[in-house]
Amino acid sequence: MPDDKNAKIDPNKATLEIHTGGAMMPDDKNAKINPNDAARMIFPIDVEGIRQEIVKILAKEKAAAFIKALVAEVAKHAAPGNTLVEEGDVLRIFDLVRKQKGFVRAGDTAGGAIPGANFALGSVATGDAQIQIGNFRPGAPLTFQELKDAYLQSDAPIALHETLHHAGRLVYSDQEYAVVVSTLPGNRPPLPTSGNRFDFSHYWDTELRKACK
Ligand SMILES: [Zn+2]
Repeated sequence: MPDDKNAKIDPNKATLEIHTGGAMMPDDKNAKINPNDAARMIFPIDVEGIRQEIVKILAKEKAAAFIKALVAEVAKHAAPGNTLVEEGDVLRIFDLVRKQKGFVRAGDTAGGAIPGANFALGSVATGDAQIQIGNFRPGAPLTFQELKDAYLQSDAPIALHETLHHAGRLVYSDQEYAVVVSTLPGNRPPLPTSGNRFDFSHYWDTELRKACK
């Protein structure tokens, strides 16, 4: 807060201060942010940067083929009303989510975040598709720019996973993805038997990341 109430606040700085709780933005760009502070920040989501990372992933033949087969197969087994969005084109689905409720960082309750880390919220069918991305805790103190880069690398595969949930007009679940992944060609581990959605999520996310390497 300025000492002089008539002083102007730079809108960019004001936004960052709100998002970071006003505490941790270093004045010096070489200052290191410690891991605990980094994990508490409501770090801005670099939506365009994430999109570019997904473009890079889709440029890999193996990754693109895996995603295409996966989405087509999940759509084939889904409930009748839960049809494929944008013909299963990942970038078009990403752009549609962006146009609906967009992206929100975990902890940003004003922006619609719910407790927890990563979620596909709302749905394309109801016009409120949104993607929530969790916080990232670096292993060591980082400068703001290093943290920004690390966040992008952490956020991109999460955003891809959540975008695939929105490939269904009413959202395709982690269970639907896990069941289909377990049947795809290749040496797949057995499906989790717990019935827990986080186990299903972890299961197909692991296979997705392997295919996208
Ligand atoms: Zn999931």
